[in-house]
Amino acid sequence: MSERVVVALDVGGTGMKCALVRPDGVAVSTVRHPTDAARGPAAVVDTILDVAEGLADKARADGLTPIAVGIAVPGVVDEARGVAVWSANVGFRDVPLRDLAATRLGLPTALGHDVRAGGLAEARLGAGRGTGHVLFVAIGTGIAAAHVVDGAHVVGAHGAAGEIGHILVRPDGPRCGCGRPGCLEAVASASAIGRRYAELAGATADAPVTAAEVAERAAAGEPLASQVWQEAVEALADGLATGQALFDVATIVLGGGLAQAGDRLLTPLRAALHERMTFHREPRLVAAALGDEAGCLGAALLALDAVGVRNHQEKR
Ligand SMILES: [Zn+2]
Repeated sequence: MSERVVVALDVGGTGMKCALVRPDGVAVSTVRHPTDAARGPAAVVDTILDVAEGLADKARADGLTPIAVGIAVPGVVDEARGVAVWSANVGFRDVPLRDLAATRLGLPTALGHDVRAGGLAEARLGAGRGTGHVLFVAIGTGIAAAHVVDGAHVVGAHGAAGEIGHILVRPDGPRCGCGRPGCLEAVASASAIGRRYAELAGATADAPVTAAEVAERAAAGEPLASQVWQEAVEALADGLATGQALFDVATIVLGGGLAQAGDRLLTPLRAALHERMTFHREPRLVAAALGDEAGCLGAALLALDAVGVRNHQEKR
């Protein structure tokens, strides 16, 4: 029998990361496509199905056997029913994406949430490997988390588990995209950090400043950048301490764009988290290891799980 692969897609607001992935977690063929969400959700769904079918055809042409499909999408995802319930940046409203893909490709299909899929990959193949209880926190334009226990991610009763970005950390803080003031992501997401710096810099601000630049300027000793960075670190520590009180994990894996700040984030954040631990056990705090491929690898793991093929690179 020819070598088996799964078709994996991670659909984001701007781009799709797609791959054929072997049961050992190695991507044998990787392609990227623009999502072009402005075309509307129906056109995005067509692209997803075309790309998935194209990858399955490529697998067969290369002498491989595609055995399942895994698709990760943002927003609220009902994984049990395979429905993309709601998404702000792709525009999905109750799209039965799992069944559409299964019908089109004639293969078992799993639908997952992008951050939970990324967390699954980090917990099983990446920075959380071998540690059992993992909280993956992705910090980018928003903040979301995935709680993974012994290689399985928690979905929630309504497909909305892990919204750690909407923990209230600063009651008098800026208004969040969800409508409430003071959510963690309104204070400490990469975009919130850039906004806060621009606001305090006022008329002296030059071009818009990214969170990465704030981190750099803070490291260079600029007082305003240091203040903004430390405010974000303290808010993140409050959010993670709440996460630890709820989940008591062994490892917190930080992903998303902000985690690329590396030790400029991790070192002060470890110290701030340490200060907040009373009787709770302090988790190991590490940066993600799989970069922006985590969501696609997680989609592959969902596909492998759906057909009962154990990924044999994992250690628990
Ligand atoms: Zn919120």
